Amino acid sequence: MVQRKGKGSRGKDPQRTENLRKRIPKIIEELEQLYPDARLELEYENAFQLLIEAILAAQESDKKVNHLAKTLFKKYRSPEDVVRVPLDELEKDISSINFYRRKAKLLKNCCQGLIDIFGGEVPRTVEEMTKLPGVGRKTANMVIGGAYGLPAIIVDRHVMRVSQRIGLTSQKDPDKIEFELMELIPEDMRTKFSFLLLNHGKTICTARDPKCSECPICDLCDSCNIKL
Ligand code: SF4
Repeated sequence: MVQRKGKGSRGKDPQRTENLRKRIPKIIEELEQLYPDARLELEYENAFQLLIEAILAAQESDKKVNHLAKTLFKKYRSPEDVVRVPLDELEKDISSINFYRRKAKLLKNCCQGLIDIFGGEVPRTVEEMTKLPGVGRKTANMVIGGAYGLPAIIVDRHVMRVSQRIGLTSQKDPDKIEFELMELIPEDMRTKFSFLLLNHGKTICTARDPKCSECPICDLCDSCNIKL
């Protein structure tokens, strides 16, 4: 894949940063037409469920997590329910999920943190969320953006890849990418932008075979591989 404009590196060039900022509304407009219902694929009814699912979804498909969720949340309705059961029982209940033993421990620690630090309520800021054991910025942003509808840049592998290809960041570390994207994207567009890039990375700007000929933001992307 060739890069057409610059080298995808913003550095601290204020002019380039400004030019990138100007691309954002157009990128959102184009992708919204393609994905009018862009959202997380995980299915949840509240922030607690999304937090649990986000932990289960690491190195696992959203589809499998959604399937498990249908029964899981009949038994586990609160952090207290997760803490109360013996570890081996929780392991058994989530055993259809990759790395279920490690994830069962993570769930227990996280739910204990929810109770101890936040009285059982899922907090509404990334800074608070990341005080919970096992919760990083990606998960925290996913929950505050997905469940509360608050501004959130969710840097999963799709958002990382697509934003790098477009040329919005040259960083490789997800947290650094998040902060660079925050500089470019107005607060009220961040969550929508994250959902759109997530969808785009899963369907058109895929890891191995980006379909640039079908991509509506080719003229806004540093890595478009078709000649305009
Ligand atoms: S699919 Fe679109 S976003 Fe991805 S590299 Fe090609 S033109 Fe860029």
